[in-house]
Amino acid sequence: MEAPCVRVERERGEETRTRLAEANLLAEEFEIEVAEGYLYLPVTDPEAVPDELEVVARAVGERDTPDTPTDLLGFEPTYERLGDIVILDEDDSDRARDIADAVMDSDIPVKTVVNRASKVKGELRVRDWEVLVGDGTETVHREYGCEYLLDVAEVYFSPRLATERHRVAEQVESGERAFDMFAGVGPFVVPFAKRGAQAVGVDLNERAVEYLRENARRNDVEERVTAIQGDVREVAPEYADWADRVVMNLPHSADEFLDSAVELAGDDCAVHYYDIQHEDDPFGPGEAAIRAAAEPDYDVEVETRHAVRSYAPHELNVCLDVRLSR
Ligand code: SAM
Repeated sequence: MEAPCVRVERERGEETRTRLAEANLLAEEFEIEVAEGYLYLPVTDPEAVPDELEVVARAVGERDTPDTPTDLLGFEPTYERLGDIVILDEDDSDRARDIADAVMDSDIPVKTVVNRASKVKGELRVRDWEVLVGDGTETVHREYGCEYLLDVAEVYFSPRLATERHRVAEQVESGERAFDMFAGVGPFVVPFAKRGAQAVGVDLNERAVEYLRENARRNDVEERVTAIQGDVREVAPEYADWADRVVMNLPHSADEFLDSAVELAGDDCAVHYYDIQHEDDPFGPGEAAIRAAAEPDYDVEVETRHAVRSYAPHELNVCLDVRLSR
């Protein structure tokens, strides 16, 4: 069967396999193949594969394991995996139940299947779920060598952003001071601290902050992590001029928090500004808003304009990596 595969030289095979497994991108239902000095690693989501890896379509064997949901259903269902939870996005409840049954009968190691029952909503960006199988929505999710305990019914967490978070984490240097204004359960804060940063994470959601503290402990970085529950606009004055790096992952309304981001920034500060905009001009409005908030006190240099993923038809989720220099 043809599947999207990452193609790497054999010598880089194990390192790349581990990297893809940590990002939950390996398609476990297919065989890894070797041919002419290259390894072909089947992946679940070719768009989430880091740009520097080559993705090719290739006929690969299916693993000699019990059935996949696709085998059992006769069509390919769409789902995401978060720890041992499988997440569906189905409007038709009969179809959702059929997929849930097939997932449970397949070889996927899963305890819970949930279906999206609302959009993400409110300030806390949490959604409602219909639990189709299982009796809890708490799980442990692994991403790029870190593990996160979280409850999908109580906090925001998107496994699809793993590659993006890793892209940002790779820029962090030991000893720097990093501030995540909308930290959730810590998927930026924890890897930043693992790289040696002093990391502060703020979130309005009390449960998210409890999980963030627990996740700092689980990943052995609690001595470098400060977790604060509250509105970041009220917390920012305590950390005025403090940050070497600020993360702003609240894409629909980050512009409303730019004054606080500028307040947090030290003399030289990287800002990672997430936005959702029309594909015709995905970066312009964010850049204009950042300049309006930071100039003339800071020179503003946009270092990267990065499309993270498509969000809706004609709408993109983007990130601007911006350098503020006083
Ligand atoms: N960075 C995390 C991640 O990648 O999983 C969470 C991002 S989520 C899109 C945005 C988070 O911002 C939510 O956890 C929400 O509770 C929090 N939030 C919303 N308004 C806030 C505010 N005024 N101050 C602090 N946190 C806020």
